[in-house]
Amino acid sequence: MNKYLEFLRNIKSVAFATTDGKNPHVRIADVMLVEDDKLYFLVPRGKPFYKQLKKNPRLALVGMDKTYKSVRVTGNVEFVERFWLDKIYEANPMMNDLYAGEKRDILEAYCMKSGVGEFFDLSVTPPIRERFTFGDEKVEAVGYHINDNCVGCGECAEACPEKCIIEGESYSINGTRCLECGRCVEFCNYNAIDASKAFDKVE
Ligand code: SF4
Ligand code: SF4
Repeated sequence: MNKYLEFLRNIKSVAFATTDGKNPHVRIADVMLVEDDKLYFLVPRGKPFYKQLKKNPRLALVGMDKTYKSVRVTGNVEFVERFWLDKIYEANPMMNDLYAGEKRDILEAYCMKSGVGEFFDLSVTPPIRERFTFGDEKVEAVGYHINDNCVGCGECAEACPEKCIIEGESYSINGTRCLECGRCVEFCNYNAIDASKAFDKVE
């Protein structure tokens, strides 16, 4: 079981973000089921949410618990057969009040089978960041990285608010502590710090 997807399922009501190609849209919806490292949710066919997913099945979602731990995930989603609708009802009995009996027919079950994600723990100082993937989604590199242009001047380490840049012949960044604020990049005069963009990736 993917513990990060399970984390979202436990929060249950999280933010789901889509785009209609022109504007971003976000709403609170429920993570209805997590099974075999896949995340399931329901969307009524009449909602803009449904139309946006039909047009662009790339979805981002994020949830934070009461202790300031959060998980965000980005991935492709697809419709799944109605078997999953019944399974979701079994796992969420309150759906029988919301869309009772045959009224459930207006709902479509969606599944996110693969994605990239990030766990961020703001309950500790400095915060902890962990990356993860699920399904067949791969991430080559994420966050900020110091490249071979580094001359070891130390300006970036001085500028870093989290003190997470490690001194050496060539400096390096502790990615689990990095806030990804980008301040080090602005202070490096040698073009030695790269930012990868896993969460912007659209395939
Ligand atoms: S500021 Fe740039 S060149 Fe200097 S130590 Fe940092 S990464 Fe290396
Ligand atoms: S991005 Fe911000 S927190 Fe991360 S290493 Fe650079 S200055 Fe430090």
